[in-house]
Amino acid sequence: MTERRNALDVIELTAGYGRIEVLHSVSFSVPVGAVVALLGPNGAGKTTTLNCISGVLSPTSGHVHLNGHHVNGAAADKLARAGLCTIPEGRGIFPNLTVTENISLFGFASETNSKDIEERTFTQFPRLQERRSQLAGKLSGGEQQMLAMARALSSDPAVLLLDELSMGLAPKIVEDLYEIVADIGQQGISVLVVEQFARRALAVAQLGIVMVQGRITAVGEPADIYDELSAAYLGGAA
Ligand code: ATP
Repeated sequence: MTERRNALDVIELTAGYGRIEVLHSVSFSVPVGAVVALLGPNGAGKTTTLNCISGVLSPTSGHVHLNGHHVNGAAADKLARAGLCTIPEGRGIFPNLTVTENISLFGFASETNSKDIEERTFTQFPRLQERRSQLAGKLSGGEQQMLAMARALSSDPAVLLLDELSMGLAPKIVEDLYEIVADIGQQGISVLVVEQFARRALAVAQLGIVMVQGRITAVGEPADIYDELSAAYLGGAA
């Protein structure tokens, strides 16, 4: 029998800022093609975890494996070649270029030609097609997030990291974005989504991970982690 590999393994990761340790031996995995939600209250260490995975922050100890290969300390281009894609803060789009111009630029970083990327993008994000002549900086927050996701998908990633997808966006837009996340998972791309507001993410995730004060307190299918989640938020916004 062949063993099914994980797209991403985080193994006993310890990390912090200066002398303050923020992550205390954090371990979890993202199975190939799964949408996994990393949840927890403000300051739990979720973004720090993503920063360790994407190479922005060097862990004090522990390992990150992508498709079974050790990648700690790898440069951004090596991580991209290994299939990791992350949407940077500010979403990594060019505000003074139109939607179509942004999409043409995605082609430079990808092996697929820009016409194909444009076609794929407009099929998956019809709203971007409607806005194709608009400057990216004039799009709504949700549309900018869609453009950023289109950029990420243009590189055919194996693993997509999404940080606070819902930040500052209206509930209806967040719902639309999570439908897209579900669709991305169905295409076989593994997704690790970090969220402070848990329910929307759990509606599309196969696996939820609860993090509190730099430690994992629960891992399981969404229905099985609600108690831990409520405890983590002390009856708060989950
Ligand atoms: P949030 O949803 O608020 O972003 P989070 O779960 O993503 O929360 P982190 O941003 O990873 O949490 O922060 C974890 C801890 O590390 C917090 O106590 C935070 O104050 C601290 N921290 C984060 N970034 C830095 C930094 N650059 N320098 C010092 N401390 C930091």
